[in-house]
Amino acid sequence: MNWIKRIKKFGESIKENLNKKFPTRSERESSPWTSCHGQPILKKDLEINLFVCPSCNHHHRINPLQRFGMLFDNGNYEVLKTPIVKDDPLSWVDTKSYKDRLNEARKKTKQDCAILVATGKMNGINTTVAASNFDFIGGSLGASETEAIIYAIDHCIKNKQPFVNVCASGGARMYESLIALSGMTKVTLAINELKSNCLPYFVIYSHPVAGGVTASMGMIGNLQISEPNCLIAFSGRRVVQATVKEELPPDFQTAEFCLKHGMIDRITERKNLAKEIGILLSILLKKNSEVSSENNEQASELSIQTREAS
Ligand SMILES: [Zn+2]
Repeated sequence: MNWIKRIKKFGESIKENLNKKFPTRSERESSPWTSCHGQPILKKDLEINLFVCPSCNHHHRINPLQRFGMLFDNGNYEVLKTPIVKDDPLSWVDTKSYKDRLNEARKKTKQDCAILVATGKMNGINTTVAASNFDFIGGSLGASETEAIIYAIDHCIKNKQPFVNVCASGGARMYESLIALSGMTKVTLAINELKSNCLPYFVIYSHPVAGGVTASMGMIGNLQISEPNCLIAFSGRRVVQATVKEELPPDFQTAEFCLKHGMIDRITERKNLAKEIGILLSILLKKNSEVSSENNEQASELSIQTREAS
């Protein structure tokens, strides 16, 4: 009757797991610990390492203010106030109302919309940077986010500054339907205007970037740089597999796959991003006086690698 005992034991273990108390979100947030690659890790240790796991090199998600602090020289920058359009133009309700989702996202992230824009110096060059917060409704592109990007580009053109856009987004915000989709066209036109003013546009991919954001402002950078192992996609893997009816490689839609197939120019670790972007900006803007002799060697090496990649 061993099989009866085994089934009984299995049933008891299921019951035990169901009764197990999992930590709530507030408990998780207040804990000094988090987890990575199935192991506990101190949040303080992650933060010291720019939120990159020292064991598995996983680049954890960071918010726009943390990103600005890492990118701008000495962490000095000024956040620009971007226009916020009327909430919920379509009075959208599904399992809950879009207005409620917006309120929750604002409370959680302390931001008015998913994109923050800041200006400051990178490698001594005045630069405007936009960064998406994935915790704000998946970093999706709605009307306010579109306005934030247009505002940032307007600021770049007026002040003759390059534009760096750090994307982390699930795509266009479907609670705004066509309004969100029209945002894809608007940001594309604004970026074209930036380029016609001979100002560089850099895209930085931060896990994950998908849908309408990849298909608009994500794919038209003068330089496309990604953090390691970032998901870069338009449709999801299952949708693509069902459409092409072929087995897809395991690394499909990763930054490494995209680099191999020419969709992006470089993969750069977070700790090197600020330095590399600074050097590349100085090459494009011919502001070599701001590049030290040590950086000059790195600059020529970078330009060769980038040419090879593209
Ligand atoms: Zn890890």
